[in-house]
Amino acid sequence: MDCLFCKILNKEIPADVIYEDDLVIAFNDINPQAPTHALVIPRKHIATTNDIADEDTALVGHMVQVAGKIAKEQGFDESGYRTVFNCNDHGGQTVHHIHLHLLGGKPLGWPPYFDENLKKPLS
Ligand code: AMP
Ligand code: ZN
Repeated sequence: MDCLFCKILNKEIPADVIYEDDLVIAFNDINPQAPTHALVIPRKHIATTNDIADEDTALVGHMVQVAGKIAKEQGFDESGYRTVFNCNDHGGQTVHHIHLHLLGGKPLGWPPYFDENLKKPLS
């Protein structure tokens, strides 16, 4: 399967791995948008959040819990952080293997900009 994140899991492509267990790994994003920008991914290939099966719900909960553990390790669990799943084109998903973005280490704007030119949310 031609999946970038499966290749990272199989160590065909290097990544800066910061956490791993039987179910998930986490590594630093190659194009960080915050002082910490990590991606938590399941070892199981699931293409999008539309494809999360009933049997995967504990796995996805685990991904969120791992993001919180990393936030604690890095010292910004109390100050706060953001976790994001992007889905398909309108969500800005570029890699079709689900991944939970963990962004932290600075105050993050809300809402996120949806249009880079207008610099405001699209209505
Ligand atoms: P998304 O746009 O939600 O699909 O997020 C994909 C993320 O993967 C982006 O933030 C990219 O910067 C990141 N990314 C792409 N290739 C790599 C890579 N080889 N190692 C680490 N992060 C990557
Ligand atoms: Zn994959």
